[in-house]
Amino acid sequence: MTCVPAQQNLLEHYVRKILAAPVYELAVRTPLQPSPALSVALGNQILLKREDLQPTFSFKIRGAYNKLVQLSPDQQARGVVTASAGNHAQGVALAARELGIEATIVMPASTPELKVLGVRSRGADARLHGASFPFALAYALDLAEQTGKTFVSPFDDPDVIAGQGTVAMEILRQHQGPLDAIFVPVGGGGLIAGIAAYVKYLRPQVRIIGVESEHSACLQAALEADQRVILASVGTFADGVAVAQIGSHGFEVCRFCVDEVLTVSNDELCAAIKNIYDDTRSIAEPSGALAVAGIKKYVAKNNVRGQTFVAIESGANINFDSLRHVAERAALYGTPA
Ligand SMILES: *Cc1c(COP(=O)(O)O)cnc(C)c1O
Repeated sequence: MTCVPAQQNLLEHYVRKILAAPVYELAVRTPLQPSPALSVALGNQILLKREDLQPTFSFKIRGAYNKLVQLSPDQQARGVVTASAGNHAQGVALAARELGIEATIVMPASTPELKVLGVRSRGADARLHGASFPFALAYALDLAEQTGKTFVSPFDDPDVIAGQGTVAMEILRQHQGPLDAIFVPVGGGGLIAGIAAYVKYLRPQVRIIGVESEHSACLQAALEADQRVILASVGTFADGVAVAQIGSHGFEVCRFCVDEVLTVSNDELCAAIKNIYDDTRSIAEPSGALAVAGIKKYVAKNNVRGQTFVAIESGANINFDSLRHVAERAALYGTPA
């Protein structure tokens, strides 16, 4: 990848924000952990960045806290509104409680119950509205306008992107040997934009590969069209990434920093959840297993051996009851690596 100067400036801007993001007042430095059986099965070294171990069981706490902590005292006093498929909601709820900010959080009616409980238990006002994220988003934007509260986007905000980018800062410090690619799950593109900006600035030879659900592949559609398109429909099995349009700030980075985007099916996600379980005894939510499913696809497609890949295990917020379905699909589909 070679950047023109304007692009290099944009990356530098994000690197500075990432280095200055005070996320560790709330987030933790998560392990970068080998996945031994998967590594053997795939013939490549697979490392998992365990973002499922954050206080809210997903990386979203990083961006949410970095955004809220930087609001002016006046904005903090008026409160915040957000729309979220559930993980950003929990991040905002926890960050808001920590900072003494009132938070109203709109989630789609289909949000898994444990995510709703995760928000309410942290003292935020949770409202269920709309069949999927785009409807919840429209409602939240209206609410922000009517109430004068600050809208906090789950992905389309430079402070949120910078917060998520701290994941990459940790990866490059934790793994200083050869690194061929980082596989990143993509919903609205905040996580991949933060990671890509940091990595392409410092180690541009490391490939950044986005992985989307085939039912919400809004980054792939935008890259193909060379503009942000709105998907006509979005599937919600991988509810953490069920977004119809890539964020504008994220796309600005992704259009020149993301090397490749892969899509995976729901069955491939179920199989990847089992692969992760077998190696770590952790249970990823469907979105949390996207990156591993993407690595399996990439290795099968390109027939590569002996490389080192990082997968972001991005979240673990899955309803216990859904595991029955996941286990059944994984058994039917099989989990060859
Ligand atoms: C939000 C989320 C993603 C995607 O992050 P974006 O910044 O929206 O691209 C991936 N996995 C999980 C578990 C998430 O909650």
